[in-house]
Amino acid sequence: MRWIYTLLFPLFFASTVAAAEPKAAPAEPEAAPTPKLDGREGRDLVLENFRPKSMLRVPEHHLPRAKFPVVDVHVHPRIRLKHSPEALDDFVKTMDAQNIAVCVSLDGGLGSALEERQKYLWTKYRERFVIFANIDWQGGGKEDDPASWDCQRPDFGRRVAAELAAAKERGVSGLKVFKDLGLVYKNADGGYLKIDDPRWDPIWEACGKLGLPVIIHSADPTAFFLPIDETNERWEELHRHPEWSFYGPGFPKREDLLAAYLHIIERHPQTTFIGAHVSNNAEDLATVAAWLDKYPNLVVEIASRIAELGRQPYTARKFFLKYSDRILFGTDGPRAPERLFPYWRFLETDDEYFAYAENPFPPQGLWNIYGIYLPDDVLKKVYHENAARVIPGVRERLEKR
Ligand SMILES: [Zn+2]
Repeated sequence: MRWIYTLLFPLFFASTVAAAEPKAAPAEPEAAPTPKLDGREGRDLVLENFRPKSMLRVPEHHLPRAKFPVVDVHVHPRIRLKHSPEALDDFVKTMDAQNIAVCVSLDGGLGSALEERQKYLWTKYRERFVIFANIDWQGGGKEDDPASWDCQRPDFGRRVAAELAAAKERGVSGLKVFKDLGLVYKNADGGYLKIDDPRWDPIWEACGKLGLPVIIHSADPTAFFLPIDETNERWEELHRHPEWSFYGPGFPKREDLLAAYLHIIERHPQTTFIGAHVSNNAEDLATVAAWLDKYPNLVVEIASRIAELGRQPYTARKFFLKYSDRILFGTDGPRAPERLFPYWRFLETDDEYFAYAENPFPPQGLWNIYGIYLPDDVLKKVYHENAARVIPGVRERLEKR
């Protein structure tokens, strides 16, 4: 912003001076038109307006739908469809067109919220959605008074465990934990609620006993923990959403969040954990591979991470081939078809250097991606077989179709 101002200020100043001069100035030769400095032109282009168009001529395969039936294990119908029945009808039509057989709603809540959300999805589409519950950490407490939150009261873990058992009776398939645990929620002393606080152990343990997989979003991309400066690879994104940055004093460290997340996976070997967004470490697949080697109870899903995976196609392809039994498909949708197409193209084709999203600006980093042309047996595992094995209720729904 400061630079736009610096560019515009001399112009503004010049025109004010001109207006204040006496009218009868002698006719002068017509000056060259002043360039419009709106940051979109020529050499005065402002970085945030940069939209390079690739001049590459290479084969393109615009796949209209997935090759095999898909289970999307990461959708938020409540958040994205705003509980509109019409929007839900439309999305199910998109699912049909795209070959998405089943979606996993991660917005189930618990208690009465769960009942309402089940009604929304299951009145018409029970065979197309399975539902994960969420923990209500706050309960009846006041938003800005962490000491009043339900999770600060004794036996919170055991009470949630009991609610999860009841939710399982009502057909819930798993538990989703949002990134707020670790990054947002606080204790009364001002410190953050820890992901690996032993107070939550009864919850993870109960999920193992009940056969409910736990999908956890812990931490965020590396760039969100770095300064928003000229070296930040997701500058455009953080420039638009500075509130997504966790850089600076007062925020937890990314490595501490990931370490805490791994602690609970290690402490609860009977519980299946699904690492959301490639365990939020898609920039470092060697490390994710080491985690998968070390923790047989861990699988990962790829929602909103084809931008990361597709810019390292050699590494990503080897990762998918080696861990084909441990990777689940996800989108963080419901998404419009235009946002889904790049997923099929990334997984199925060997197309080069294409956009990972339909936006005129790249929603994550300013780069393009490459396809990893997975063989059919791997595609089937990633698209649905792994989800059918890991998530209760998926196999029955797939078989009915
Ligand atoms: Zn999500």
